[in-house]
Amino acid sequence: IAGVILGSGSATSHVVIIAKARAIPTIVGLNKENRIDKIKDGDHVILDGERGEIVINPTPKERAAYDEKIKKQQELARRYAALKDLPAVTTDGVRIDLMANIGSHMDVDNALSYGAEGVGLFRSEFVFMGREEIPNEEDQFKAYKEAVEKCGGNLCVIRTMDIGGDKPLPYLNIPPEENPFLGYRAIRISLERRDLFLPQLKAILRAGVYGKAAIMVPMVINVGEFKKVKEFVKEAKVELAHENKAYADDVQVGIMVETPAAAIMTPELAKYVDFFSIGTNDLVQYTLAVDRGNSSISYLYNHFNPAVLRLVERTARAAKDNGIWCGMCGEMASDPYAAVLLMAMGLTELSMSAPSIPRVKEKLRAVSAVQAKEILADVMKMEDGEEIKAYLQKVLA
Ligand code: PEP
Ligand code: MG
Repeated sequence: IAGVILGSGSATSHVVIIAKARAIPTIVGLNKENRIDKIKDGDHVILDGERGEIVINPTPKERAAYDEKIKKQQELARRYAALKDLPAVTTDGVRIDLMANIGSHMDVDNALSYGAEGVGLFRSEFVFMGREEIPNEEDQFKAYKEAVEKCGGNLCVIRTMDIGGDKPLPYLNIPPEENPFLGYRAIRISLERRDLFLPQLKAILRAGVYGKAAIMVPMVINVGEFKKVKEFVKEAKVELAHENKAYADDVQVGIMVETPAAAIMTPELAKYVDFFSIGTNDLVQYTLAVDRGNSSISYLYNHFNPAVLRLVERTARAAKDNGIWCGMCGEMASDPYAAVLLMAMGLTELSMSAPSIPRVKEKLRAVSAVQAKEILADVMKMEDGEEIKAYLQKVLA
């Protein structure tokens, strides 16, 4: 597939996230001006993923300009390839782990080819999707084991299934909802459906024997939910012991901070969890009340909005105060300017679509943590997300 053009959607729609992980240029939201209807069979189309633009039947001059652009991109790819085995470390020695977001164990090799130091988010719901029935413990174990093994001793964070929202699962027969993003999804389903949750936890714990696995829970809004998760994990271990199946006892259990409630409660949640991973794709949509998939309001969807930055900073501080690690697996982590701020806030891990790793690494290697802290201090005094974006583009150009 050379590229994808979509009438609707936005940069954090799941279809786009998957395409991004495979470096497939994708353009969304072109329905607005009925642009897709203007493409006829046999037309030549240039798809400019960088600018989010298409050019139908380009003139020779336009073609030549794009040939030049492609050449520049190839040069950039060569520069990035040279960074593959270098660490993401600032000029004054602060080291950040750059990890990959994957949707399948088959994505790991591709992720490693971009220099990923493990997996910060395995969206396990994709193991559940595209099939007719619930994958059993054994099926899941095979998928997780392969991903964990391929990480070769680096961490592989497996998120328990995040079904619901824009990822329905027909065989669960969940009735249509008016507000699926605020509805029956993710951990809310898992906690009610032990027939789904226990086999998944058991599969992850077993995969942990083959490397370093972690369990991550999506959509948490309160401490009680996490306590229930810990009970399930305990129960999964008891069952595995009874069944004489090998499992890793030291698998970390953490949460995604992707609801404002969780972010606000991080000082309390930090007492129970092993780590936080901030999911900005949802955190931004819930904090700003901006549907992440609605292209007509995508101009409001800005991870530099001060309300979002304050929740991220609060989460990082709560982690530090309680001696746990804090990372990010939302798309914000793939923005090099954001990465500098996140490092300054104290995040130690950034997980993203693998093709984004080199540009984030290049930016982190070009700054000092001291300089980043000064920039962060300036940014946290600003009142407007667009102003912050423009400021970062200026000082970090
Ligand atoms: C997020 O919400 O930031 C996230 C990483 O999860 P997903 O995109 O799968 O909702
Ligand atoms: Mg999410």
